[in-house]
Amino acid sequence: MSDARDTRTTLAADRRALLRGAGGLLAVLLAPGVTLYAMGGAEAEARAPGEAVSPKVRWGLLIDVNACPADCDACVAACRTENGWADTGHKATDPHWIRKVSVRDPASGAAREVPVMCQHCASAPCVDVCPTGASFRRADGIVLVDRHICIGCRYCIMACPYKARTLVHEPVHDQTADAPRGKGTVEGCTLCAPRIDAGRLPACVEACAAKGGAMLFGDLNDPNSAIAKAVAARAPARIRADLRLDPGVGYRGL
Ligand code: SF4
Ligand code: SF4
Repeated sequence: MSDARDTRTTLAADRRALLRGAGGLLAVLLAPGVTLYAMGGAEAEARAPGEAVSPKVRWGLLIDVNACPADCDACVAACRTENGWADTGHKATDPHWIRKVSVRDPASGAAREVPVMCQHCASAPCVDVCPTGASFRRADGIVLVDRHICIGCRYCIMACPYKARTLVHEPVHDQTADAPRGKGTVEGCTLCAPRIDAGRLPACVEACAAKGGAMLFGDLNDPNSAIAKAVAARAPARIRADLRLDPGVGYRGL
């Protein structure tokens, strides 16, 4: 047990040093006086095997769409690779754990490409409507589907205002160990929970940082985290804020 704790402490210290270094390289100036660090704010502590998810933590993302080039899909590609999903050629039903959505301001004509994934809502309608309890919210705010008890009714797909979930229509081969998928069950962004539990960044955030960094990941409940400081300095925009679902994902530049 003490070995596990020592290993965990060492890994966390190494990771913090790495993240501090990377954050310094990847600072993103969002607005005068507000600088985000694409990686520096993660500070995710690996959970020891058997350690419960803590309700003291709420994982979240802050995405600066002004720093997100239209021709970049590094986040989407990284998510595909990490979680083993791919287009099947049926555009209407293909999985999209994360996708770039084109938006245009009708007044100014300004166009943006917005990465949209599950918003990990605190008041999640997908959880409310699920008849089996397969759709659930972890204590740390990550919303997931238990594929063992999902019956594929798709109530959650209809309830989600962000179109963040899809049904697996085709047989699945070559699944990755951390992202089990199955025909006839529903899936969506897991915020890369297995990576977070191991003290790593979500795959999209890591890939985005390598391209310049438009995503900040971290603990919204930790007042010392970079993401909590950025949110406290200026409230982020939320997609469909009128629904008051308290999403864990916020945006700059919308
Ligand atoms: S974005 Fe959709 S799938 Fe994700 S938690 Fe909110 S309602 Fe559920
Ligand atoms: S499709 Fe699965 S996760 Fe969604 S509401 Fe039905 S049983 Fe729940």
